[in-house]
Amino acid sequence: MRVTMEHMTLIVDCELCAADRVTEWFYEDDVCWIAECEACYVPMVVWKRHDPNPPEEIRVVMHSRLRDVVDTHYGFEHWLDDNMRTIPSHYHAHARPRGGFSGHGLRRG
Ligand SMILES: [Zn+2]
Ligand SMILES: [Zn+2]
Repeated sequence: MRVTMEHMTLIVDCELCAADRVTEWFYEDDVCWIAECEACYVPMVVWKRHDPNPPEEIRVVMHSRLRDVVDTHYGFEHWLDDNMRTIPSHYHAHARPRGGFSGHGLRRG
């Protein structure tokens, strides 16, 4: 019996997987990390798995971590935006200021 090794190349072509702390991380645990989105200037939570569909209980945990960060570091009224426009294959959610989309011009608390 012959075992053929398949070509095993792991292509990391995902901004979120490749995230290398270019911005300040507010929070990290085994499930997720939270940092300011470079494009939107608002905090976003990123699941540590490359998967677009976390189970509901994980989703709830990530959202509550994100809320804590907003309360601690920003203090604006926010809404959770988990419409993944730019990276649809990796779960992440933005906390956007109520009535707005980006955090440009927002002052941190
Ligand atoms: Zn990824
Ligand atoms: Zn963003």
